[in-house]
Amino acid sequence: METKTAMQSRLVRVVAQFLAAGFTTWVLMTWFGGRHTLLYVWPLTAVPLALALGSWHSRLDRSLQLAGSALGELAVCSALGIPLWIGLSLSIGQSLEVWAAGEILSRSVTCFQDLKKRVNVLRLGIVAVVVPALFERIVADPFAALTHSSVSTTWKIMAPADTLGLAIGLPALLFLLSGEYLPIRRLRPYLAPAAGTLGLFLATSVLVFAQSSSGLLFLIFPPLTLVLFALGLEGAAVAVPLLAVVACIATAHGYGPALLIAGSGQHARIFGFQVFVAAVAEVALSVGALLDERKGAGRAAEEAQSIYQTLIQNTQDMIILSTLDGAGRFASPAVEKITGWTPEEFVARGQLATIHPDDRELARKILASLAAGKMNHTLRYRLLCKDVAFRWVEANLRGYRHSGSVDIAGYVATVRDISAQKEAEDSLMAERAVLSQENQYLADLAARDELTGVANRRAFNVALEQEALRHTRLGKPLALLMVDVDYFKMYNDRFGHQEGDVCLKRMAETLQACVGRVSDLVARVGGEEFAVLLPNTDEVGARKVALDMLNRVRTLAIKNIDSPLGRVTISVGMAIWPSQFATDTASLLQQADRALYESKRNGRNRLSVAADVASVSSPGQYRSTS
Ligand code: GH3
Ligand code: MG
Ligand code: MG
Repeated sequence: METKTAMQSRLVRVVAQFLAAGFTTWVLMTWFGGRHTLLYVWPLTAVPLALALGSWHSRLDRSLQLAGSALGELAVCSALGIPLWIGLSLSIGQSLEVWAAGEILSRSVTCFQDLKKRVNVLRLGIVAVVVPALFERIVADPFAALTHSSVSTTWKIMAPADTLGLAIGLPALLFLLSGEYLPIRRLRPYLAPAAGTLGLFLATSVLVFAQSSSGLLFLIFPPLTLVLFALGLEGAAVAVPLLAVVACIATAHGYGPALLIAGSGQHARIFGFQVFVAAVAEVALSVGALLDERKGAGRAAEEAQSIYQTLIQNTQDMIILSTLDGAGRFASPAVEKITGWTPEEFVARGQLATIHPDDRELARKILASLAAGKMNHTLRYRLLCKDVAFRWVEANLRGYRHSGSVDIAGYVATVRDISAQKEAEDSLMAERAVLSQENQYLADLAARDELTGVANRRAFNVALEQEALRHTRLGKPLALLMVDVDYFKMYNDRFGHQEGDVCLKRMAETLQACVGRVSDLVARVGGEEFAVLLPNTDEVGARKVALDMLNRVRTLAIKNIDSPLGRVTISVGMAIWPSQFATDTASLLQQADRALYESKRNGRNRLSVAADVASVSSPGQYRSTS
């Protein structure tokens, strides 16, 4: 649904078209047409076109506006008593022209700003020449009738007049409609140069065209140049119509250099005048657009420069620009805050001199890598400073090339002070190290038997599961010894619990002394019971360890008076998982326990081996060795 305001503004545009076209027609027909046979500049195409270009994309809008302007023209013609067929031809011919010119121009030109591109000035020039040539014929017939002249003569003057009207009128009207000069205070700085240059231009135009004795046309160009330099395309949009009006009035009154054209009739003189004004319009609009284009580009560059400067001046990070050899350098003001040196002092110190000696090798490597073409690097290093020894910084380096060159010319580095962050990181690392030491200590504590210092039952269970997995994976044999002190109750009863503890410690030490590999594990798994895990050990090896244990304990010769054996001894039960064999750990433990039981049963102080894993459960399958 269209809003009420959109409808209203559409209506306003249509009425504006009606009034503007009507008024222009009235001026053209009465003011000039009353006194002179033909007009030399015909702006009636430019008026509706300038009004409609801004809303050309809406078909309804432009159709209504074209109709509005045609009606305005027709109404004024009727009011002036001009025959209907002449009024109709005029309004239809004009509407066709506006439509054709609008179809071509509206793609690139919808407002005055668009004319500031030279390509659009060129488009306007082409449209101004081609469109009148196509349609002016339609208007020429009725005009010839109106002015009692021949159609061909009428057309010869009307077509260039229309071209001039478009080329001069459209920029001027678009400028008027743009409202660029509003509010008035924006106009103020331009008032003096505008009054000065345009005044001079107008005075020169009057001087040149108010006389017919000398061909002073060239005098137009110096003040025109001043107008263009001072005011750009806006100056051109105002100056050229001024010239056209002065020249028209003068020529119409029989003055002006055109009269000097040798041996020419009135039409040739008019054409000469038209060509001159067209040339001025062409030069003024092109140069005006060019100057404005340049000014715009310059302004954009200045703006970019000022943004860039603001960034450089205010960023907390230092920005360093350097050639690879360090010869050409720049440092941003943040350098002073971070290092204590002014940017000039910092630059004077040279590329590597501001890097801690221990970090220079890394910096050199990065420079070499940059030179080899790797564009991005991040490094942390110690930056030497004026007041403190150094500061930790993080630098992001990005290489740059000069345009058209393949070689890296230098780099831009953004350097950030990370000393606080680094301090926090370091203390965190230290805390972590302490924590992990403590954790290790606690883990050790949790895994160790308090009395004897060897592994406890929990650690043994964990190790057994791990070794079982490794055995399954690698297929290496795994041996388990269960060791129990013989008649230990008697020892305790005789010597007391404390002595018993001392004895247990010695047992643990002795057992530990019999294992050689890091992966071997001696654990106290019960009161006077030990388990020994021997990974990657076959029966022969495990037997050797077990016999060594029996032997060494015997050799300790700790008296156990009440024992039938007279000294402290141990009994050992052994079970083996040969390579490529695995059952569950519980059955391995069970085998070793049963072998231990066999040792006890057979008189203690001996080793029993679970002979055949498959037949553990059947009795008599143990080989006993003392
Ligand atoms: P066997 O030859 O059949 O093993 O006879 P044993 O007396 O060693 O066996 P038993 O299981 O009857 O007795 C074990 C004794 O070990 C009981 C207890 O007095 C003693 N004992 C268990 N734990 C500790 C301990 O931590 N310290 C001390 N001093 N003695 C312990
Ligand atoms: Mg026991
Ligand atoms: Mg015992």
